[in-house]
Amino acid sequence: IPTKLPNVTTTIFTIMSKMANEYEAINLSQGFPNFEADHKLTSLVTKAMQKGYNQYAPMPGLLSLRDIIAEKTNGLYGSTYHPETEVTVTSGATQAIFTIIAAFIQPGDEVLVFKPAYDSYEPSIELFGGVVVPIQLSAPNFSINWKEVASKITSKTKMVIINTPHNPSGTILSKKDMLQLEGLLKGTDIILLSDEVYEHIIFDHKEHQSAARFSDLRMRSFITASFGKTFHTTGWKMGYCLAPKDLMSAFRKVHQFNVFCSNHPMQYALAEYLKTPKNYQELPSFYQSKRDLFLSLVEESRFTFTPASGTYFQLLNFNSITDESDVLFSERLTKDYKIASIPVSVFNLNQQDDKVLRFCFAKTADTLKRAAEILCKI
Ligand code: PMP
Ligand code: GLN
Repeated sequence: IPTKLPNVTTTIFTIMSKMANEYEAINLSQGFPNFEADHKLTSLVTKAMQKGYNQYAPMPGLLSLRDIIAEKTNGLYGSTYHPETEVTVTSGATQAIFTIIAAFIQPGDEVLVFKPAYDSYEPSIELFGGVVVPIQLSAPNFSINWKEVASKITSKTKMVIINTPHNPSGTILSKKDMLQLEGLLKGTDIILLSDEVYEHIIFDHKEHQSAARFSDLRMRSFITASFGKTFHTTGWKMGYCLAPKDLMSAFRKVHQFNVFCSNHPMQYALAEYLKTPKNYQELPSFYQSKRDLFLSLVEESRFTFTPASGTYFQLLNFNSITDESDVLFSERLTKDYKIASIPVSVFNLNQQDDKVLRFCFAKTADTLKRAAEILCKI
């Protein structure tokens, strides 16, 4: 029986986390915190369950949660999204991304994807007959050549996907980048999918350049967000997306048959928790101190790096250690040195190997110290 996605295998996150467990390695591969979420938030979920929020939520999400999401977005980016029609709560950003693609991509539609890219974009596009048009970025800057982007836009281009702060590189798009993109898309019907799941994890007093800030991008954009990243709850799979009314209406046509609605007690808890902006405003300094601790310790090692500007990932370059491929080196580090990371080439076009590994620093200080001690011995 012919099946879909013949070339897709198990994701690198599953492979590396499994290998980390098997070899009892420190797992800095798959991105997730190894510390607890705020007890105030988890007890709000218990409270919601005890209060009886145990049946279906409204299809687009609990209105009190959509209200507070709209308020937060307006406060941060000066952009108004109507909670009734322009905000939808989803089961993680991955579901939002899948549903956006399902709602719009038809056979033959072209989608521009910057590589290295989060691994769910391309299979989702291919499932609906879309054609991925890859644009490769390279270490250490991963900067976008907008002339190259202009040359890839054709009459078949339906969507462009960006991700800022960027997984896996930890780089961010500047205001200048966003203005270039806005200029390129002006006057077209191209949809922008702006994956902003790390919007609150940004360092050195840099400002997140959300697509919501740019009027000609906002009118054509879906913005995806993830409570997993923001509140240390990746296992909850809760997120949301924002879009103008007409785009969101097409999204909801699919969403209602994809999941219908997301977890109800968690929505109740998140609506309460978001009323205290401090709960996300403290995130940049919280993660910056983890990045700085990790880098100050790794400075002694033979790895080289450019500090991440955002996300909870740090790339380390191993050029001066070995000429092995990043895949083989990451395997050897896991098995022999007991530290697991992600080889970035698996996200690249033709497995381009920039000799960098991705390390997740969403870990306790103790874990980061033990990890750095190992890295300094390599
Ligand atoms: N986009 C990017 C760039 C990510 O790193 C992640 C996290 N894996 C997601 C989307 C998906 O987020 P969620 O866990 O909320 O589905
Ligand atoms: N986004 C996470 C990462 O980049 C993992 C997501 C997943 O396991 N699918 O590590």
